[in-house]
Amino acid sequence: MRRPDLVPDCASCAALCCVATSFERSEDFAFDKPAGVPCRYLTRGNRCAIHADLIGRGCRGCAVYDCYGAGQRATRAFATAPARLRNQAFLVLRGLHEQLWLLTEAAKLCPPSCGELRAELAAQVEVLDTLARGDVASLLEIDPSHYDQRTRALLCRVGEALGGRARWVRSSPEWERESPANDEMK
Ligand code: SF4
Ligand code: SF4
Repeated sequence: MRRPDLVPDCASCAALCCVATSFERSEDFAFDKPAGVPCRYLTRGNRCAIHADLIGRGCRGCAVYDCYGAGQRATRAFATAPARLRNQAFLVLRGLHEQLWLLTEAAKLCPPSCGELRAELAAQVEVLDTLARGDVASLLEIDPSHYDQRTRALLCRVGEALGGRARWVRSSPEWERESPANDEMK
């Protein structure tokens, strides 16, 4: 089960993903939307007017989107911040929360015999949790790629501990575990 604070709670969120994110017309989105601009389907009550038929309306990307709990956190923590800064901070938080989700899930899989690796996973989780507790200004100073690389290295080591050939790969925007079975299909 996912750590509770990493689960999206849309009822407690100001629909930040429908405002802060950008997307381009593609097979996942029926139209272009710049970052910081409310989606054309976002209602005044922060509801999606086409929620019941996202896929049918060409918005499969919205149907599968996951903020890993960053939405309600940014809504709660940055309620008094200017909207532009809150939106930017949300995007940073979303990246941190995604890494936290990956690391906490990897920690569950990491063999008990790998004590040092388990400790390093816990330390990285602590680092990211501390960053995620920061204010808007401190979040906007973060270089996400710095922490992303460290997280990726730890995930690769967990994959190796689980079977040698297994490893984690990034197929934007998600991380996936590349299994030996997948290797053999290539
Ligand atoms: S940002 Fe997250 S919590 Fe907020 S509406 Fe989007 S998915 Fe839901
Ligand atoms: S289509 Fe709906 S879920 Fe997707 S961005 Fe617009 S309002 Fe949000």
